[in-house]
Amino acid sequence: MTEHRARKRFGQNFLQDHGIINRIVRSIRPGEHEHLLEIGPGQGAITEEILRSGCQLDVIELDRDLVPILQGKFGALPNFHLHQGDALRFDFSEIAKDKPLRVVGNLPYNISTPLIFHLLSQHELISDMHFMLQKEVVDRLAADPGSKAWGRLGIMAQYYCRVESLFDVPPEAFTPRPKVQSAIVRLVPHKELPHPVDDVELLQRVLREAFNQRRKTLRNNLKPLISAEQLEAIGINPGERPEKLSLADFVAITQVVANNPIDEAN
Ligand code: SAM
Repeated sequence: MTEHRARKRFGQNFLQDHGIINRIVRSIRPGEHEHLLEIGPGQGAITEEILRSGCQLDVIELDRDLVPILQGKFGALPNFHLHQGDALRFDFSEIAKDKPLRVVGNLPYNISTPLIFHLLSQHELISDMHFMLQKEVVDRLAADPGSKAWGRLGIMAQYYCRVESLFDVPPEAFTPRPKVQSAIVRLVPHKELPHPVDDVELLQRVLREAFNQRRKTLRNNLKPLISAEQLEAIGINPGERPEKLSLADFVAITQVVANNPIDEAN
């Protein structure tokens, strides 16, 4: 096998535990007639197992040095398509032409949050996602309202998707070993959003303000956007902390804020 030295700046921690690789691919269950996209194939640990299903597989890898390794291993397969580039800038509509995409990846942890937001913004093209992430990020994605992990990331993920934490993966499964525990998460975009808002950007702004200082009350954090009286009018206690609110509560707040004049100085 061609030697490749893992690069920290690309978040490279390669999977080496075949038991874990097989367990991930069994959770994904790629079907022969499906179209998958793998983000960050690295040296092809998961790629190889996915390709066995005969599905159509596009992969997007940022590190140019991995391109000849991947092409050497899989380039002859007609169902394999490699894109060299940045997944954060990738327009998924280019490849999701006739079928919804199933997106998978052992993601580079340094960009996992912006990448998830980028994918959520294209949720209509995606039928499901399976990712390896830092366990702490999986806990935030799958968090319940009222818990410590509940915040902007989990609320936005659950706005668009059903989120399921599948299993944990220890550092020993990788080379080099990451300093943190990892976990596998499944996100399935809702066919119809259970709590739609008219303006998603405004929901994001409400969440940013609400969780700006977690120890402060909603009355304080949301002062620039909504009054305490308006919160009370929709049944929300202005003295509550942000993590006590549900997604539906934040959606209700956003719909009121949409009709308020916004003070841009704040
Ligand atoms: N899938 C391989 C495995 O499990 O062994 C590699 C996983 S490694 C954690 C993350 C991979 O994502 C690396 O191959 C890295 O080069 C690639 N990568 C990093 N940033 C990327 C980006 N912005 N777009 C696409 N790939 C990226």
